[in-house]
Amino acid sequence: MRFTVAIDGPAAAGKGTISKAVAAQFGFAHLDTGLLYRAVGAKVGVGGDPVAVARALVPQDLAVEGLRTPEVAQAASKVAVISEVRAALVAFQRDFARREGGAVLDGRDIGTVICPEAEVKLYITASAEVRATRRWKELCETGITQDYDAVLAEVRERDARDMGRADAPLRPAQDAREIDTSEMSIEAAVAAAVAAVSAAMSAAETATAAMRQLGGEA
Ligand code: C5P
Repeated sequence: MRFTVAIDGPAAAGKGTISKAVAAQFGFAHLDTGLLYRAVGAKVGVGGDPVAVARALVPQDLAVEGLRTPEVAQAASKVAVISEVRAALVAFQRDFARREGGAVLDGRDIGTVICPEAEVKLYITASAEVRATRRWKELCETGITQDYDAVLAEVRERDARDMGRADAPLRPAQDAREIDTSEMSIEAAVAAAVAAVSAAMSAAETATAAMRQLGGEA
């Protein structure tokens, strides 16, 4: 069975948690596509041409340590404005999306550019302040001390770059279901996402059964 769940949204809206939970619930594979851009950004930080780095990226590059820092996040969003970098990463993401057994991809352009045919499209969002508070708490927990205002400024700067770029800007796909997690518990947000996927899977199964019946009757 091929079944793609496309989950987009700005940083710290809850995409990662929701994507992992949906993947676990349905036994789908999960790809955090931000890691691709982070891996390119991190490598370019130590020298190299972003396009050449993106073209040479291998899955092991996604497992290196230190990709989750705020510095790498900014470096990622800077290389992500380069069209040739984005183009170099398309095939890997599309192959992942159509793998046998189902896939969840989260990022910024999954429902709009990478998988416009995804069976489910979700757009997870929250206010910049709520997202900055979550990011700030996460950083504190990992021992990185940062001023809240600096984290909020970083969130806003990245939003502006991701939403304002010419190629594949962050925006909801026309047929995406939007989930605003600003005032939602993570459990409620996961439940809403799981319900959307369950409904789409039932619809797909019904359509497949109807096609089989038509085929059998012909
Ligand atoms: O999701 P994450 O915060 O790890 O993404 C880091 C950066 O990578 C984003 O700010 C964005 O610029 C870029 N990105 C992208 N398209 C994606 C995923 C991430 O442009 N599908």
